[in-house]
Amino acid sequence: MTQGEPVNGLSVDVEDWFQVGAFETVIGREDWPSLTSRVERNCDAILALFGASGVKATFFTLGWIAERHPALLRRIAEAGHEIASHGWDHERVFRLGATAFAADLDRASKALEDASGQRVTGYRAPSFSIDARTPWAFDVLAEQGYAYSSSVAPIAHDHYGWREAPRFAFRPLSDSPLVEIPVTTAMLGSRRLAAGGGGFFRVLPYAFSRWAIRQVNREEGRPAVFYFHPWEVDPEQPRVPNAPLRSRLRHYTNLDVMAAKLEQLLGDFRWGRMDALAAIEATRAAPLQPDLRPGLREAA
Ligand SMILES: [Zn+2]
Repeated sequence: MTQGEPVNGLSVDVEDWFQVGAFETVIGREDWPSLTSRVERNCDAILALFGASGVKATFFTLGWIAERHPALLRRIAEAGHEIASHGWDHERVFRLGATAFAADLDRASKALEDASGQRVTGYRAPSFSIDARTPWAFDVLAEQGYAYSSSVAPIAHDHYGWREAPRFAFRPLSDSPLVEIPVTTAMLGSRRLAAGGGGFFRVLPYAFSRWAIRQVNREEGRPAVFYFHPWEVDPEQPRVPNAPLRSRLRHYTNLDVMAAKLEQLLGDFRWGRMDALAAIEATRAAPLQPDLRPGLREAA
């Protein structure tokens, strides 16, 4: 780690092992209350890891979790981390529509603020579900007073992605200071590679992530945005036997080495909260080019 390199954004998407998008075909929302929660023990392990490394981070948390685990939200906030919104119950934005999205955001932020005592100014869409299908999403976020969103994966992926979106911070609306900070990608030739965490970080060798974040920090001079989930540090979580094979392979690979990889990552780079990163990036975020504004292409 070198002083002078950008401070990267460290984030945890706080959801329980049974709330993962990849399992939604076999575990319904109506099943959630009867399943054994592991989110508190996993978040406490993450808080200990962050505390030992002396880093602060942002916890994008479901409102559903905040309502049931207010003491956890207080512990996160009291340790100096940012509480931000991951929506109410992980419904993807492109499935909600503008009115339902506004209600989902509002319900989540009330629960998060009640539990933590912090004001919520940041949002991450479940499964990076703000994309070309949701032209109204940024307007709704701006109306509700959000300072930033980190909800776009500027890449093509089987579950998500808005492949034409800018790779770095941008202003999606001409009449609002709202800034979108996409999750990190690295360039290999002309190809964008997902490099911001999740399954990629866990499954691929650590050297790939180190190479990618270095490229972004040193060659492009920009901060990286990294994310992971509490269930990723939990090798003992219950198995979901009837989930699709591909989801199971992705979900359960390398859970036992995740904590050690994270420790290395925290030591190799500079890390901080997303709200601090957003304030810096807002000063140089470019307006979204008109031809990239979601919905315009479809409407034309
Ligand atoms: Zn999520």
